[in-house]
Amino acid sequence: MASFFFDAVFINLFGTDYMNTLLRIAIQKSGRLQEGSLEILKESGLSFSNGKDQLKTQARNFPVEVLFLRDDDIPQYVEDSVADVGIVGENVVAEKQKNIQIIKRLDFAKCRLSIAVPRSEQYTGVEWLEGKNIATSYPNILASFLKKNNITAGIHEISGSVEIAPGIGLADAICDLVSTGSTLLSNGLKEVESVMQSEAVIVANPVLGPEKKILFDKLLFRIESVLKAKNSKYILLNCPNEAISKITSVIPGMKSPTIIPLAREGWSSLHSVVDENDFWERIDQLRAFGAEGILVIPIQKMIV
Ligand code: ATP
Ligand code: ZN
Repeated sequence: MASFFFDAVFINLFGTDYMNTLLRIAIQKSGRLQEGSLEILKESGLSFSNGKDQLKTQARNFPVEVLFLRDDDIPQYVEDSVADVGIVGENVVAEKQKNIQIIKRLDFAKCRLSIAVPRSEQYTGVEWLEGKNIATSYPNILASFLKKNNITAGIHEISGSVEIAPGIGLADAICDLVSTGSTLLSNGLKEVESVMQSEAVIVANPVLGPEKKILFDKLLFRIESVLKAKNSKYILLNCPNEAISKITSVIPGMKSPTIIPLAREGWSSLHSVVDENDFWERIDQLRAFGAEGILVIPIQKMIV
């Protein structure tokens, strides 16, 4: 119903049949980005099948086609307009150096690209790397890091299992993705320099046509609502009336909290929204001000 209404508006406002335009979104076929990418599209209301070995699929309820690709290929496909937009790690965007734009950070697949050396080494600082051989799948990012630090080192490009390179005598150090550091540890390495922080991002071709732009803005609006909701919680609590103003200053909500009188004389129920990041700190303050029966509920979508 809602989608029919929007389609009708598109046709009337612009005199064009926007129903024939599909926004093509490239996501990783399988790997660490796949689940988060599918989740964010589905939470944004897109419904589609994603069977194994499928190369592409069309959403049933939104003019979107999803392409399943290797993550390394996504920047090139977006630059070439084979896909209009894509979901990929910032690390891959930085490495591939294609003419694409980062539109939004998506708050998942967080990791860092770091330099690691054998644990037995006395690492004194970045100058330790001078004249050494470093194995990596990210030669461009590593080259600019070394240049920025005035270091001349050999870059040995390998495509997988970079962490074994020092152990088999292929390199003195590595530059690879790290999240917990457990892979480094089990290969006898220690992290010594952080080269870049990364998370999944939406990238787009810088010259989307007007029809695609409208579709992308509509999708982006939904994605932003999902991301805001993920970072917020709905909070309900009971408090004595004299504590309302203090409590309101701690959890002001989107505009102001909802306050409903309780059957119990002199007490109210207060409803508001609180940021996930400073949630525990706020709860401690609320309890100190006399709040009781605090309930915290996840929010599915947040339109502000
Ligand atoms: P493909 O077959 O698509 O080329 P891949 O093996 O290159 O896959 P993955 O290991 O699935 O890639 O990683 C994809 C992306 O996920 C990385 O480019 C990075 O942005 C992110 N990532 C990698 N390692 C981690 C990690 N340990 N924790 C969180 N995110 C990570
Ligand atoms: Zn890859």
